[in-house]
Amino acid sequence: MEIHLLPAFTDNYFFVLHDPQRQSAAVIDPGAAQPVLACLASLSANLEAILITHHHHDHVGGISQLLKEFPQAIVYGGAADRGRIPGQQVYLQEGDRVTFGDRTAEVLFVPGHTLGHIAYYFPATEHKLGELFCGDTLFAGGCGRLKEGSPAQMVASLSKIRDLPAPTRVWCAHEYTLKNLLFAQTVDRDNADLEVRLAEVKQIRQQGRPTIPTAIALEKLTNPFLRWDNPKLQQAVNAHDSIQTFARLRGMKDQF
Ligand code: ZN
Ligand code: FE
Repeated sequence: MEIHLLPAFTDNYFFVLHDPQRQSAAVIDPGAAQPVLACLASLSANLEAILITHHHHDHVGGISQLLKEFPQAIVYGGAADRGRIPGQQVYLQEGDRVTFGDRTAEVLFVPGHTLGHIAYYFPATEHKLGELFCGDTLFAGGCGRLKEGSPAQMVASLSKIRDLPAPTRVWCAHEYTLKNLLFAQTVDRDNADLEVRLAEVKQIRQQGRPTIPTAIALEKLTNPFLRWDNPKLQQAVNAHDSIQTFARLRGMKDQF
């Protein structure tokens, strides 16, 4: 399974999974059809599946046109998003599986950004890293805004993600990394790993390159939205438990 990252709009990423042996592809969160169609044409690949993390337009806007070109493609999404995803045929819940070629994703139910949000986790194999496609739940250095869910729901969802194996690669749906880390620096002051990462990310963005994928290990060290139980961070936002810490951080970031 090869993964192609497609930049779109101002800061979105769509992901095309490609199985060269079968000349087959799946796409994750196609907010628009054109970049996906161009990628499929360059690969000479057939589209067999459209995997959706949540119902927002920048993640589903391309589905209808893709189905016109590839009417046999199957549209997957969360069970709680029923009625909100165009063309949805499969309604996924926590623990369900989706197979693409020789890899099988496990579905994680991760409400918070929206109430129907899911993530697709492909566990590592003997020769391949684990891959997580988490939509707008976890971002590099940050997390999604709480558009529909509560802080407690988001902490539970981010806990599931934090518990994945450290080398797992994380494919976030937006390029928000630099701004996220500039915020992180204001609340997590003596974090040497964060300083190093911020310098690296500044350089990567100056070169116009993506900061995605990130990895669980790096996020645990530098992302304040995975560090709600860190005593120094709790103290910095004057909070006494994990959910309060997360809620304060989220509120501060919303104003940043
Ligand atoms: Zn969204
Ligand atoms: Fe989005």
